[in-house]
Amino acid sequence: MFDLPAQRAHLSEKYDLTPSPELAASMSDIYDRMSRVVSPADWAIYAPYVKAINDLKAERNAVILGHNYMTPEIYHGISDFGGDSLQLAIKATEVEADVIVQCGVHFMAETSKILSPHKTVLMPDMEAGCSLAESITADGIAEMRRRYPGAPVVSYVNTTAEVKAASDICCTSSNAAQIVAAQESDTVIMTPDQYLAQNVARDVPQKNVVWWEGSCIVHEQYSAKDLREFREWNPGTRLIAHPECPPDVVAEADFSGSTSGIIKYVTDEKPEKALLITECSMASNIADELPEVDFVGPCNMCPYMKKITLGKVLYALDTMTGQVEVDADVADKARLAVQRMIDLSRQLGI
Ligand code: SF4
Repeated sequence: MFDLPAQRAHLSEKYDLTPSPELAASMSDIYDRMSRVVSPADWAIYAPYVKAINDLKAERNAVILGHNYMTPEIYHGISDFGGDSLQLAIKATEVEADVIVQCGVHFMAETSKILSPHKTVLMPDMEAGCSLAESITADGIAEMRRRYPGAPVVSYVNTTAEVKAASDICCTSSNAAQIVAAQESDTVIMTPDQYLAQNVARDVPQKNVVWWEGSCIVHEQYSAKDLREFREWNPGTRLIAHPECPPDVVAEADFSGSTSGIIKYVTDEKPEKALLITECSMASNIADELPEVDFVGPCNMCPYMKKITLGKVLYALDTMTGQVEVDADVADKARLAVQRMIDLSRQLGI
């Protein structure tokens, strides 16, 4: 368990983290990237942390990878690279840094470690898990193999290293349909997200897609009825859903795509009003780059992603605690499943 008071005491001894409008004003270039969604008063609180983290990054030769679901002060204030889980994993292999700080959830840090075993990977809060990743273990994969002998196992990247190691190939929400379609077998096992699997089954009718019953606690909360009612009361709003949503929600939306697919769609289409049916920070993080789009409507927060805060990032970098380790044998097997996905995606031109 994290001892937050102890962390705060440690940080306040070493850093001046008093809210400072003067410091905030001197860092207006960073603030400009989030000024539509972060108030000046909040920025005055964040600025001392952002400065301390950015200074420390240079000292430690560290890079910060920020997932699209991070809060804007993390995504725009301290992240060197932002993106979805696959983009961040690939970035982890490319950067020259000694240290990677993963601003995301635990399976993402494991993936970075698997792909970059010689780098130190820090997780600012080890309790930042994921309902999907926690829904299945390697035993669950073995059970699916027993139920469907000979069928390949395609596991979403939102899984532990142990589950990746037990799978044949990984997929993300942006390449899942193509990865499944490319399998030789007629029957394909998808784990652990039942909704992503059902959405893929609709798009790849030539395959018999069978799935594990996991789900994302953020996306499973949306219903098709919510979308219909929203559309009725807000005509002209473009509804954009993540494929971790149930299939009837995806069917009700105007577009469905991974987080990077959603960003591309909104950037290309620039709808007057858009409702992103996904985690709340997505809209906040792209709002400043798309001032012509009015992001409206309800969103659902991921409690795991929100465990990552500026204070925890500063503490992890300062003390070099929260180092992620993956057993070498598990890492070798997991790397194979991830690398097969990367290679096949390149081959398919995705
Ligand atoms: S949004 Fe869903 S899939 Fe992503 S980390 Fe949170 S629980 Fe997991």
